[in-house]
Amino acid sequence: MIFNLGSVNIDYVYAVPHLPQPGETLAAASMSVGLGGKGANMSVAIARAGGPVRHIGAVGPDGVWAKARLAGYGIDVDHVATVDVATGHAIINVDAQGENAIVIFPGANHEQSDRAIAAGLADAGAGDFLIFQNETNGREFAMTQALERGLQVIYVPAPYDEDPVKPLLPKADILVLNEVEFGQMIQATGRDVATLGIPTIVVTRGAQGAVLLEESSGWSERVFSAPKVAAIDTTGAGDTFAGYLAAGLEVGLSAEQSVERAVTAAALKVTRRGTAEAIPSLDEVQTFLG
Ligand code: ATP
Repeated sequence: MIFNLGSVNIDYVYAVPHLPQPGETLAAASMSVGLGGKGANMSVAIARAGGPVRHIGAVGPDGVWAKARLAGYGIDVDHVATVDVATGHAIINVDAQGENAIVIFPGANHEQSDRAIAAGLADAGAGDFLIFQNETNGREFAMTQALERGLQVIYVPAPYDEDPVKPLLPKADILVLNEVEFGQMIQATGRDVATLGIPTIVVTRGAQGAVLLEESSGWSERVFSAPKVAAIDTTGAGDTFAGYLAAGLEVGLSAEQSVERAVTAAALKVTRRGTAEAIPSLDEVQTFLG
């Protein structure tokens, strides 16, 4: 089982002629409301990859539909609490060129209690995985609980924020991050990869694919190219990658096999508009791989 301590957001997307300037009031040509948040996207990716996943998180009364949407993908949502705070949300303005400007309100994502996290992990044990990113509170507590219970911990330190990331880094078993975040991390810690103390690091590189760095009597580096595709929307590519990677490891695939699947799944995602609803199924990924 994969336990995902993860954000759930409501995405409000507005098509605007240009991004609003200070003091400007602008009418949007259209708007849409959808399920979002890195955590929710990762749970959907795990479910689409066929993996068993329990989402641990929180929504407000306005997010009950988002929880139901997650359940519709086959995700265990018994530990998605409904709290008395607005659901996390993102106001996303997109201009005619596809450039965006985003405001996020964490809301219920910052209302995780230690008690709720402990309850969500109560039946977790060896062979299970914990995955989390930086959009909720309670990360250090969840990580400590997971390590005590013998889970493997996958940390996706995004959005990157130096202070909370530093204490968590050395305890992770697997780190998944894009190359910009990787550069920030190396700069912030002042260390090179070899001294971070994390045995497996996966760095995603957009259209170029991903690099797998593994430590076992010295470091090995393996490069995985992404298939060439016509990219039309990269939203959620990183989340698709992380979810597929976790799902591969959970069924016992090697890190190489899991990264190969993840690279392909994320490349297929960027050929489709949208986030959760655009994440490909395992069948689609396997058909593509041939
Ligand atoms: P995002 O923030 O857009 O969700 P990210 O910055 O976290 O993504 P990236 O490294 O940009 O992560 O992309 C993750 C994965 O998505 C890549 O490893 C690759 O498999 C796939 N991908 C992204 N962009 C492309 C592209 N243009 N063509 C093919 N695959 C892509």
